[in-house]
Amino acid sequence: MKPTGTITRVADMQAWSEEKRACGQRVALVPTMGYLHAGHCSLLKLARQQADQVVMSLFVNPTQFGPGEDYARYPRDTERDLNLAAEYGVDVVFMPSTEEMYPDGSIHFVDASDVVDTLEGEYRPGHFRGVLTIVAKLFLAVHPHAAVFGEKDAQQWWLIQKMVKDLNFPIKLISGPTIREPDGLALSSRNTYLSPEHRKQAVALSRGLKVAQALHQKGESNAYILRQHIWDAIAEQPDAQIDYVEIVSQSHFAPVTLVQEPCLALVAARFGQTRLIDNIALN
Ligand code: AMP
Repeated sequence: MKPTGTITRVADMQAWSEEKRACGQRVALVPTMGYLHAGHCSLLKLARQQADQVVMSLFVNPTQFGPGEDYARYPRDTERDLNLAAEYGVDVVFMPSTEEMYPDGSIHFVDASDVVDTLEGEYRPGHFRGVLTIVAKLFLAVHPHAAVFGEKDAQQWWLIQKMVKDLNFPIKLISGPTIREPDGLALSSRNTYLSPEHRKQAVALSRGLKVAQALHQKGESNAYILRQHIWDAIAEQPDAQIDYVEIVSQSHFAPVTLVQEPCLALVAARFGQTRLIDNIALN
């Protein structure tokens, strides 16, 4: 297994990418904040199928964390991440410093209306401004032909597709399905925060979503009833604090009252200090 190369400077990343492009090679990017799990690795596999050169970015982006959120304690293990990247055939890991991505006086941000202030955006003000800004900056640094994201972060995925369309980024977007633990819990770097007791309780998120999906498949289309089933499954956990349970259309990411088009059921809940999100398709 060949060790993965690392690049820390934007200018070096751009030069590397232009060199590969000049040879007619396709470059795919997988953005991550590291502490890789099987969900990230599934995206690396998808990228490998899409391109001659796979770049994984590894950057814990401060601008997408609000005050009092877990930026400082976000789990980090660069050595392990580099080994996993090599195992999955990543050609280069782009791992810039914060100063490199946000030089002194960096004042330009990518923003969006409506959807950035709902759901995750309501509970994490400024989060999507930070996400869209870093994704745009990574696109300009890596200049990929394709970029791969997880459907686990459904609102993020929707907003990135919208940004790419609105700003005409010439990048093919690819999404990968949510990878789960055998009991259904969606993999997340934040699962490491969970105590054993909260780890057990957190399964209620995916259990509730699956109940709603099964009911929908049997013909229930009333969003209020579907939401109630999800809510109840989570609320019966002694330490669960629900931020939201919502059903949105996949086209506009807006809440629906009837599930008559492809929709997503979305949840966010806290177990102690750990905030988790999950979603399932209602098609
Ligand atoms: P993060 O490191 O949390 O910023 O995530 C990097 C990428 O991995 C994002 O596109 C996420 O949507 C994706 N991702 C996170 N968890 C999962 C999962 N369980 N299954 C598939 N993709 C995931």
